[in-house]
Amino acid sequence: MAYRRDLRRFTRGIRFRLTASYALFFALLLVLVAGLFRERLAYTLNQQVHDSLEQEWAALKGYLKIEGGQVHWYYDTEDPDENFIVERLRRVFLITDANGHNKGASSQYQAIGIDPPQEIRARVAEGLATMAPGSAGKAFWLERNGPDRTHYLIRSGVVFDEGHHAAYYVAVGRPLSDNEAILKQFTWIYVGAIPGALLLGSLLGWFMAGRALAPVQEIARTAQRISGSNLSLRIPTRNAGDELDYLILTFNRMIERLENSFRQIRQFSTDVSHELRTPITAIRGQLEVALFTAQTADQYREAMFNAMQDIERLSQIVRALLLLSQAESGQLALQKSRLNLTQVIADLVEQFQIPAEAARVHLTADLPPDVPIDADRIQIERMLTNLLSNALKFTPPGGSVKVGARCIQRKVEITVEDTGRGIPAEDLPHIFDRFYRVRDAGGSAPPEQGLGLGLSFVSWIVTAHKGKISVDSHPGEGTRFAIILPAPDAASETMELTQPVLPKMNEL
Ligand code: ADP
Repeated sequence: MAYRRDLRRFTRGIRFRLTASYALFFALLLVLVAGLFRERLAYTLNQQVHDSLEQEWAALKGYLKIEGGQVHWYYDTEDPDENFIVERLRRVFLITDANGHNKGASSQYQAIGIDPPQEIRARVAEGLATMAPGSAGKAFWLERNGPDRTHYLIRSGVVFDEGHHAAYYVAVGRPLSDNEAILKQFTWIYVGAIPGALLLGSLLGWFMAGRALAPVQEIARTAQRISGSNLSLRIPTRNAGDELDYLILTFNRMIERLENSFRQIRQFSTDVSHELRTPITAIRGQLEVALFTAQTADQYREAMFNAMQDIERLSQIVRALLLLSQAESGQLALQKSRLNLTQVIADLVEQFQIPAEAARVHLTADLPPDVPIDADRIQIERMLTNLLSNALKFTPPGGSVKVGARCIQRKVEITVEDTGRGIPAEDLPHIFDRFYRVRDAGGSAPPEQGLGLGLSFVSWIVTAHKGKISVDSHPGEGTRFAIILPAPDAASETMELTQPVLPKMNEL
C-alpha cells in the first residue's frame, strides 16, 4: 500500500510529469523527423535510378543496331569504358519485335519473366501512336519482382531498325535492391538511435526539471520550519531574476506581513494587559483602603467613587475592543439615514466646548447652512468624537482646533485641523493601524494616550461609508485630517423631493 502511495505521489510530481511530457514530445519529434527524412531519402534514391535508367536508354540507342531483323551491339571492344557501359546495359535487357517475339533477353530479364506478347503489342501500339515526328515516343516505367524478391525498375519504349522499316520493343532495367538496402540501413540506425536519444533526453529533462524545481523544495522546507515564534526566517533569493525568484520574493513579503501582524498582536496583548492592569490595580487599592482603613461613610464613598471611575475606564477599553472586533468581522452594519452634517458637527462642537475651555484650546467650526449626507449618525459622531478628542489631546494650551464641512463636486469634505504638536513623518503611514501609538523619544507611549484604536476605528468608519481619509501633519505646527464622503446621489434626492407630492396624486 505504502509503496503504491509513494509511486502515485512520484508520478504526480511536477518533475516526473515535466520529464514525461518532455520525453513524449521528444519521441514524437524524433519519429516525425525520421519519417520525413526517410521519405525524402526514398524519393531521392528513386529519382537517381530513374535518371540513370533514362541515361542508359539514351546510350543504348547509340550502341544497338537492328538490321534485317538481326540485333547487333556496336562498340569498340578494345575500349574498357565502352565495354563496361555495354555490359551494364545488357545486364537487365529485353528486345522483341512489334508482336512481342523475343529477339534477345538477358538472363536476369528472363529470371524476372518476359512480358506477355499482348502487353508488349499494346505498349508498342501506344508508343507509335504517341510518337510525334522526330520525338522519342512514350517511355514506359514498370516495377517488377525478381525471383529472389528483389524489385526491378524497368524503362521500356519503341525503337526502329536501320532504315526505319520496323518497330521494336526494348526494355532496360535496374535492381532496386541497393536503394532498399540503404533505406533499411537508415531505418535500423534510427530505430536503434531513438531509444538512446530518448533516454539521454529524458535524463537531461529530469536533471533540468530537478534544477528548476529545487527552489520550490527550498521554499517548502522553509515554510515547514516557519511558525509563530520564528517568523524572521527568509528564503534567500538566487538573483536569477526569474519567476521562481519572484515567487520567493512574494513569499518573503508574505512572511514579512505576517511577522508584522504577529508583532502587532503581541504588542496589542502587552498594551491591553497593561491598560487593563492599571485601572484594576487602582480599583484593588481603592477597595483595600475601603476595607481596611475607611471608617466614616464619606471615606467609604470616596473610595467607591474612585473605584467607579476606574471601572468606567475599564469598560471604555473593553467597549472599544469589542466594537473594533465587531466592525472588523463585519457584524457592525451601518444604519444609514439622511443627515444634515452641519447640525451633527455643530452639536458635537458645542459638547466639546467644555473640555476645550478646560484645556484652554480655541475650538471653532466653519460650516455652511446645509450639508446633506446619507450616513450612520452614530458612526459619524463616533468618527468626529475620535478626531476632536485627539486634536484637543495633542494641542497645547493657547492653540486652536477648527472643524469644517463643505460640498465639493458631488462629494462632502470634512476637515479637523489643529495647531498641536503634529505627527512625525515616519509615524504618519502607521497612525491608522490598530494599536499604533506615536512613541516619544524614550520609546514609550505617553501616558495621556489611549490604546491606539481611535484612528483605526475612524478609518473603518470612513471606508464603510465608501469615503477616503487623508492626513497632513507638520511636527510642532499642527495636523489636518480631511475626510471625503460621497454626497447623496441625485436619484435619492429627487425621490425625497417628490415624496410630498405623492399624497396629492393619491387624492386624484
Ligand atoms: P489613541 O487612542 O492612542 O489616541 P489613535 O489611533 O487615535 O490612538 O491615534 C494614534 C496616534 O496618532 C496617537 O498615539 C497620536 O500620537 C497620533 N495622533 C492622532 N491624532 C493626532 C493629532 N491630532 N495630533 C498629533 N498626534 C495625533
